Amino acid sequence: MRIQLLFSTFDAQGVATLEQRLTCFLIDDCVAVDAGSIAIALTDEQRSKVRDIIITHPHLDHIASLPIFIDDLYPTLKEPMRVYATEEVIGLLERDVFNWNVYPRFSDLKNDYGPVMEYVPIPIGKSFPVAHLSAVAVPVNHIVPTIGLVISDGQKSVAFSSDTAETDDFWKIVNEMKGLDALLIETSFPNRMSKLAEVSRHFTPASLNEELKKLTHNGMDIMAVHLKPTYRDEIIEQLSALNIPKLSVMEPGKVYTW
Ligand SMILES: [Zn+2]
Ligand SMILES: [Zn+2]
Repeated sequence: MRIQLLFSTFDAQGVATLEQRLTCFLIDDCVAVDAGSIAIALTDEQRSKVRDIIITHPHLDHIASLPIFIDDLYPTLKEPMRVYATEEVIGLLERDVFNWNVYPRFSDLKNDYGPVMEYVPIPIGKSFPVAHLSAVAVPVNHIVPTIGLVISDGQKSVAFSSDTAETDDFWKIVNEMKGLDALLIETSFPNRMSKLAEVSRHFTPASLNEELKKLTHNGMDIMAVHLKPTYRDEIIEQLSALNIPKLSVMEPGKVYTW
């Protein structure tokens, strides 16, 4: 399985700063987990392939350019863009984003080939297919309804925490997946901002360290993601001081293969 935290090759500072704030993981060049930077950072080939997008929660950094992406591809889509989310999150996207005020309700629209956008409701705790992959979703602990995911291609499995503070259900499915290859876990704020991390339901390196004690097996790569760009260097320093084997920070733009 190939996973890339999307990051474009534009070197304008504004684009780089914007993209570091946005979350979009691309799996095997065709399935996206979240869509923050999806309209900005895909190559032409990736744009022609991505038709399956999982949305973990409706915060702007995870959906910012989703409406623009669908708009860009609108006339050329020969199949609908499939947006996977829990019923609750689908309701929020329809109410707050694709509501004809902020942007068109693409799920009601067709081009010459047929519907351009289709919601696929995600079940909780049960495996569901996404393109050539299968995924399991569980609620995590964030200030809006949010899911963590374990995604498998039949050979390799990777867990995504999405945005969360301390949680138990996520670790239950992670601990059940004995052959897990990688764990992508958020670390948003440095230790000195633990109050803000607590109220906005995110981890710091210190709280992540506590949380990782819930992991009952090891050996997988642990990749810290969702570092707030303003504090990136400080968070990296504090993460490396934890001396956790196989813990590293996911580099934007780099392709990781498991
Ligand atoms: Zn969030
Ligand atoms: Zn976020």
